[in-house]
Amino acid sequence: LFIVGAFFGMIVFFIVNYYIKRKLSLHSLILKGITRKEFIPYYQPIIDVYKNEMYGCEVLVRWWFNGKELILPDDFIPYAENSGLIINITDVLLEKTLMQLSSVNWQDSSAIISINMIPGQLEDKQHMREVVDLIIKSSISPKQIAFEITERMSFSDLDKAATVIDYLKAQGINVKLDDAGTGYGSFSYIQHFNLQSLKIDKMFVDTIGTHDHKLFVLDSIIAFGKKAGMEMIAEGVETKQQSDYLLQNGVYLQQGFYFSEPLKFEQFRIFVEQNKRK
Ligand code: C2E
Ligand code: CA
Ligand code: CA
Ligand code: CA
Repeated sequence: LFIVGAFFGMIVFFIVNYYIKRKLSLHSLILKGITRKEFIPYYQPIIDVYKNEMYGCEVLVRWWFNGKELILPDDFIPYAENSGLIINITDVLLEKTLMQLSSVNWQDSSAIISINMIPGQLEDKQHMREVVDLIIKSSISPKQIAFEITERMSFSDLDKAATVIDYLKAQGINVKLDDAGTGYGSFSYIQHFNLQSLKIDKMFVDTIGTHDHKLFVLDSIIAFGKKAGMEMIAEGVETKQQSDYLLQNGVYLQQGFYFSEPLKFEQFRIFVEQNKRK
């Protein structure tokens, strides 16, 4: 019995050890990536389908690992968010975004540049002050910046967050509710915060045209957004049928592969130019 126990003990030890080492190495690789500025912004256009023009874009991080291997967010964002490293990644990303987009010739200067933030970042007022300073120092107006705050993670202090959101709004930065309906409290966030926009998750857009009996969830979110007088942006729009359905139901701000994938800066710049000529 002792031998069997020792044997299983060893196995457990090796498994735990393996996972700790793997986490540690991801941690140090991300740290290295931050100093080497391997995190770069891709830009996905958001289209105003009603006006047939660009509304703006969402900034989506890509990890250009060792300068040669492209790693997508799903493989490092969850760890970065839970460990707090996301703060440093966002700093690198924001710096690059402000630099690159300042040379874009928008149709007018009202295009909105949307950046993903997690509740923990938003609750830190001192850090938000530094972020705002960075934006003010750039040639991009804070009015052109929005933060998408995911509801996949919860806030620890709703009142504190509400103060920061008001501060940002006073600076011209709007906060949008991201992944609305998928996580912790859309309703309580809307109750507590001064939010003007919500992003409808791909999960709900996917139910359009599939005879999915859950289409009523999407319809309810849209009805809710309308009642609340909120601007709505649908994400993950892949087909004309989805786009038409959303437009018919009053959701004219749309983002998805039907219009464009997230683009590297040079491609994004071309996309903006081509859209102006339309
Ligand atoms: P998200 O904020 O919901 O972003 C939308 C995701 O859907 C992006 O995935 C985008 O590439 C993808 N997408 C857009 N249109 C379509 C479509 O038509 N079809 C399909 N299949 N996918 C579409 P991505 O870039 O892989 O990012 C995944 C998630 O990682 C994001 O989801 C966001 O939660 C997180 N993320 C990305 N960048 C950042 C960042 O800078 N900071 C933080 N905190 N999270 C980020
Ligand atoms: Ca987002
Ligand atoms: Ca989203
Ligand atoms: Ca989403």
